[in-house]
Amino acid sequence: MIEDMLRTPAAVQDSERHTAHNYHPLPVVITSAEGAWVTDVDGNRYLDCLAGYSALNFGHRHPTLVAAAHAQLDKLTLTSRAFIHDQFADFCRELAALCGKDLVLPMNTGAEAVETGIKVARKWGYQVKGVPAGQANIVVAEGNFHGRTTTIVSFSTDADARADFGPYTPGFRVVPYGDLAALGEAVDEHTVGVLLEPIQGEQGVVVPPEGYLPGVRRLCTERDVLFIADEIQSGLGRTGSTFACEQEGVVPDMYLLGKALGGGIVPVSAVAADADVLGVLKPGQHGSTFGGNPLACAVATEVVRLLATGEFQRRSAALGERLHAGLRGLIGKGLVAVRGRGLWAGLDIDPALMSGREACERLMARGVLAKDTHGSTIRLAPPLVITEEEIDHAVAQLAAVLAG
Ligand SMILES: *Cc1c(COP(=O)(O)O)cnc(C)c1O
Repeated sequence: MIEDMLRTPAAVQDSERHTAHNYHPLPVVITSAEGAWVTDVDGNRYLDCLAGYSALNFGHRHPTLVAAAHAQLDKLTLTSRAFIHDQFADFCRELAALCGKDLVLPMNTGAEAVETGIKVARKWGYQVKGVPAGQANIVVAEGNFHGRTTTIVSFSTDADARADFGPYTPGFRVVPYGDLAALGEAVDEHTVGVLLEPIQGEQGVVVPPEGYLPGVRRLCTERDVLFIADEIQSGLGRTGSTFACEQEGVVPDMYLLGKALGGGIVPVSAVAADADVLGVLKPGQHGSTFGGNPLACAVATEVVRLLATGEFQRRSAALGERLHAGLRGLIGKGLVAVRGRGLWAGLDIDPALMSGREACERLMARGVLAKDTHGSTIRLAPPLVITEEEIDHAVAQLAAVLAG
């Protein structure tokens, strides 16, 4: 049945012929996009309710961001950090201000921001906290997703992500997400950081119990441990505020940012922290050839300016209410549970009805693109430029899919 729905079988097969099979994409071949909509090679249009896992928070080809990229392409694209370029200072200053932190360290991908956070926390532990050489540990949560490097998968609890990639990097302790007592027991005098997603995106948009994040903050302060918030997917407007931590009144010691920071145009990630933390790095101790390049900075500075207006955070909060109200109306009509904040929702479909994958295939056939996380859970994360009518349209298509 799904095969009958395929509008582009030849182009789909072509995309797999010389490709490592590390993804299982929906069978749609996209050729152009604008705002919340994409168009496939046959001219069919789809409402994008994934938004590149939040890399497209401002929609496809936001005019301000595309203009910044075009202008920069005609001037200067890469210098390496061996030299200074004229886009660098503004980006770092404005992003630091958005984060309320002293310093910014730019990288490219989210995984690199996480790796940077780990390295900084360890160095801070040895040089500032006084942890004996080689003894530092970092506490992380079950169900985490922080990226795909060998060190990061070392503390993943997802068997697919981790199995057969060892030997694993030591120095991590895994505790149940949302369990403050377990965290308190895992932290000891050698703990340098607690690394958490304030909402676990890949796990199915799992929101921790109320009071958890403030509890983590208190614990980290009391025990002299860095609270490292991975806001790569939850940050930059997705949840209705600049950072998901904000909604619990929490300020971490380190923000890890990525995805939307590149405006859907270039990969840009960053670590933001105060000088007593990020200041531990000295020349030669960390770096990246492409990190903080002129094109990345030009685009990301405009991203920061879009966020500084507050417009996207307000849209996400207001439209998120509408999305969640619509989705809650489907509980008992094929949905078992709905979680999330702002324009971010994890939906558990009744497993007796269909898998998350099948739901996404059926949604695709109805012109809506979404992605399953695992089992019968799917995630909706539309661009923050989506309209009320488009949200209602997406919810209606989901209702039709669930109704069979
Ligand atoms: C996507 C993601 C990462 C990894 O980012 P990449 O750019 O794919 O390396 C890390 N943490 C979280 C929470 C993410 O969602």
